[in-house]
Amino acid sequence: MSIFREYDIRGIVEKDLTVELAEKIGRAYGSRAVRAGAKAIAVGRDGRTSAPVMREALLKGLLGCGLDVVDIGICPTPLLYFALFTLPVGGGVMITASHNPPEYNGFKLCLGKDSLHGAAIQSLQADIERGRFESGQGRVSAHAIIPDYLAYIKKAFAHVRADRLHVVVDCGNGMGGLVGPDSLRTLGCRVTGLYEEVDGRFPNHQPDPTVVANLQDVIRKVGETGADVGIAYDGDADRIGAVDEKGQILWGDKLMVLFSRDILKEKPGATIISEVKASQVFYDDVGKSTRRWPASCPAISSSPTGTSGTMTPSTRHAAWSRFSPRPAGRSPRCSPICPTRCPRRRSAWTVPMTSSSRWWRRPRSSWLASTRSLTSMGCESSSPTAGG
Ligand SMILES: [Zn+2]
Repeated sequence: MSIFREYDIRGIVEKDLTVELAEKIGRAYGSRAVRAGAKAIAVGRDGRTSAPVMREALLKGLLGCGLDVVDIGICPTPLLYFALFTLPVGGGVMITASHNPPEYNGFKLCLGKDSLHGAAIQSLQADIERGRFESGQGRVSAHAIIPDYLAYIKKAFAHVRADRLHVVVDCGNGMGGLVGPDSLRTLGCRVTGLYEEVDGRFPNHQPDPTVVANLQDVIRKVGETGADVGIAYDGDADRIGAVDEKGQILWGDKLMVLFSRDILKEKPGATIISEVKASQVFYDDVGKSTRRWPASCPAISSSPTGTSGTMTPSTRHAAWSRFSPRPAGRSPRCSPICPTRCPRRRSAWTVPMTSSSRWWRRPRSSWLASTRSLTSMGCESSSPTAGG
């Protein structure tokens, strides 16, 4: 399988992902960034043992295009996204293999404030094969992003008083340990940390909270300490698993119910976007304001803020056109809420959900059908975790 995937580049170091290839990826991405007008980009990395050598190779490629690099250091992936909004950069690269075992590494790529995905990632491979590279000589500077982020949390959530909350945080020896416990303490929480030390060998358990076995330590600790909630991060801390005070796992759609209730209190009637794997529990609770989208729609997932507000209308149009449900035999049509109001705009499928208009039960496309089969099987919860 190609290491150039839908949303990132990822493979086994020295087998799929060599130092030479890492440099070429830097060169191909850097050339793309230069052509898009970027002068500098941010580069972060996680704590894997291969991170230093991957960083060196990537930087060689980027600098060789004439791009300046702002090295934001070892940090969670969401802090790379934070850097895109707070530093004078035209894109960013995170060196990480997310929740995968220690022998893996890879790259999450952003241009402007959006993630590269789909055809944009595949075309990097084509550029490498053709040797379509820009040339120049950039410079490296360092900017520690974690203090910026913690200061932002302190200011933005100054009104939050969570003093009564005791939280167990399992950092899994990944990036969560650098930011998660301190962020929660800033909110006033009492924090019991597990495996906070960064260790790219992941000696305690794999940093993948979608696997129930990896949640056993946080479940046990919540029981021992009588904590109110437990949180387990994945390797680059852009995904969480959560358990309640009884140690019961709160899967992603139940977390969405909690978040949505909170949002709807402040913004009644707000549209809540979920992934397609969310169960009936979610739709029954929040249903009046929801529409169903395909899983991992880039209109949602490529935005670091979790909304589509940072994407350009043309990008959103492209994403929606591509992922909108298509009745068999008909040409693709765009979403009725496409901001470009293009000729392919359609109006049939996003009927607001009410108890009397269960439009999603109609088999209009394969993903709608699969959603229906999930709910008809009585799946209470099919969405493993929040995040990516
Ligand atoms: Zn991740």
